[in-house]
Amino acid sequence: MKKAVLAVHGGAGVIRKGMLEPAQEQAYHAALATALQAGYAILKQGGTSLDAVCAAVKELEDCPLFNAGRGSVFTHDGLHEMDACVMEGKEMDAGAVAGVDGIRNPVLAARAVMEHSEHVLLSGAGAVAFARAQGLAFESEAWFHSDFRYAQWQEALKEDRVRLDHSEKKFGTVGAVACDVHGNLAAATSTGGMTNKRWGRIGDSPVPGAGTYANNAGCAVSCTGHGEFFLRGVVAYDVHCLMEYRGLSLQQAAELVICQKQVALGGEGGLIAVDAEGNSALVFNSEGMYRGLVSAKGLETAIYGG
Ligand code: ASP
Repeated sequence: MKKAVLAVHGGAGVIRKGMLEPAQEQAYHAALATALQAGYAILKQGGTSLDAVCAAVKELEDCPLFNAGRGSVFTHDGLHEMDACVMEGKEMDAGAVAGVDGIRNPVLAARAVMEHSEHVLLSGAGAVAFARAQGLAFESEAWFHSDFRYAQWQEALKEDRVRLDHSEKKFGTVGAVACDVHGNLAAATSTGGMTNKRWGRIGDSPVPGAGTYANNAGCAVSCTGHGEFFLRGVVAYDVHCLMEYRGLSLQQAAELVICQKQVALGGEGGLIAVDAEGNSALVFNSEGMYRGLVSAKGLETAIYGG
């Protein structure tokens, strides 16, 4: 159990102290802890990091508090289009889905793409048909509806009328990264994308190297933030490269990418990462990031910055 560690995030953004009611705060902490426990139970029994990150993300997808699975945001057309990716660091195998609807747990669809298809990334109707053929669970529109997300969408629509460059500042994507007792790494990310997104927009989350990455030679990374900037920065792979090619520590690499390079580019958000030694980094340049970490040392969850 020396190395086993699991981190999760539930999105970064403008999350300030005082913005959440104490009961809401508690609900976020509890949901993050539930996800950590689900994943860590697997690691503790000697299970794989891939199983652990999928179990943790599945919990977060089923929780309406986060922008993934059940709690996914509305697109401009009032739909839900979800993206997800998994990657494991031993063989560097990856699977992803983009722009899918109706699938209860997109992370499981991403894993099915990795394990049961010859492809890495499936999108739209093809991805949905594949998930059906794999026997994955589907839910009706009511499962994905929440009054809170609906109100958020209406607000975004209204702002669009006066500000075409409207930028949504709350990123509720979920993700998990883990190192198992064998030193194998895995990462998973799942998202509803950005409120009011249009025209089949796909963010960084389902793109290996951008929002999700795992390579035993370096680290496993799951990102959350303004996807357009994270795509351009190839953020997750950049963290890995700084470790592999420049010899930076996990923490140094994550801070350089998020607190310097993404800030310079204009990208708001953060990431969670672990390496094969069981080190972890939970770094963000936004005001807060829903996050948590569990290892033999214990379990902790947090929401706000410094
Ligand atoms: N990165 C996600 C996207 O751009 C959003 C998020 O992190 O909440 O789709």
